[in-house]
Amino acid sequence: MESQKCVLYDRDCIGCLECETCDLDPNKICDNCGKCLDIKDDAVIKIDKIIINDK
Ligand code: SF4
Ligand code: SF4
Repeated sequence: MESQKCVLYDRDCIGCLECETCDLDPNKICDNCGKCLDIKDDAVIKIDKIIINDK
């Protein structure tokens, strides 16, 4: 089985959940509430990758 690469560091994923932690509250797992995004009329976000499910 191929291991998953960490999205933050140059290593395999160890399931630490650091990448899921809220940018504003380190005690919170991100629930995509959007408070960290200063969205006015439009916004630009960086995405890591697009996963296409071809089923
Ligand atoms: S859970 Fe941890 S090791 Fe896995 S991708 Fe996120 S930050 Fe990297
Ligand atoms: S979207 Fe909400 S929960 Fe996620 S990092 Fe931003 S402020 Fe935190």
